[in-house]
Amino acid sequence: MRSVRQKYKNNAKRARAWGGVAVLAVAALASGCADDDTNGARPVEGPQQALHAPPARALDSYAARLRAQQAARAVAAKHWGLTKVPLAAPPAPARKPVIGPRDGFEVTDQEELDLPPVFTTVPTKDKVVFLTIDDGSEKDPAFLRMMSDLKIPYTAFLSNYLVKDDYGYFRKMRDRGVTLNNHTLTHPYLPGLSYEEQQHEICGMQDIMEKQFGKRPKVFRPPYGNYNRDTLRAAKSCGIKYAPIWDEEVFVDHWEYRDWDRDLHPGDIVLTHFRGREDWDGTMPDMIRRFLKLVTDKGYAVARLEDYL
Ligand SMILES: [Zn+2]
Repeated sequence: MRSVRQKYKNNAKRARAWGGVAVLAVAALASGCADDDTNGARPVEGPQQALHAPPARALDSYAARLRAQQAARAVAAKHWGLTKVPLAAPPAPARKPVIGPRDGFEVTDQEELDLPPVFTTVPTKDKVVFLTIDDGSEKDPAFLRMMSDLKIPYTAFLSNYLVKDDYGYFRKMRDRGVTLNNHTLTHPYLPGLSYEEQQHEICGMQDIMEKQFGKRPKVFRPPYGNYNRDTLRAAKSCGIKYAPIWDEEVFVDHWEYRDWDRDLHPGDIVLTHFRGREDWDGTMPDMIRRFLKLVTDKGYAVARLEDYL
């Protein structure tokens, strides 16, 4: 993140040189590029730019940088065998959406106890979806390179029994700006366990995440998407704020949909898994090609889930 701060400082310096109007513009410039390293190119016309009307020279250099980023993405797309260049996500929302449980996915006393919401879609009008990748069995270096080259954001949900043979792989992922989240110690069917056992599965994984990756996650996904009231109470007691599940799942050779319309919706959370040729007929990059093809064909960009939480 050092380079981001440096960029901010450079922007601020330039803005001061341009005088009063430019100082207003710096906020727009800085927020527009704050996630460049993880999030790829940004559209030139964003609400923040419109509000602050940056001076022509600033807009020129910002637009030029975006053009360069999208050009680099086009080269990467070709290199990785994509038929279309992935679309650039809009800027992170200035105001985070209020996220509650999906209808029918709440538990008794959900609101009274302020339990983490279980949801499948983030409320937004942005034409974006979020990619979430679970478990951690396959550790393919090509996948890390592909996602960095293409600047596609994603979020990983790790289960300790699958990642403990190579924490280093996921540290590399974290260092590339990916948020690592909690998916329990041993991937059990949580509703079959007592409150104390569930708490051990979730809080125990929080301890591992802190020790191995330096941070206790705020986001947790119950294995198989199965949970009960004790799951959410236990998760809350371990510091968890959100329990997203998913609206679509992508495999190497097909998609599965939760909703009857079998379509993507703005803010949908898409699930896939760290799997390779041992588990399915293809590689992680093969799966990502299938994912990006449908998402791009339907006019969606891939955004960072954490930008909306
Ligand atoms: Zn899982």
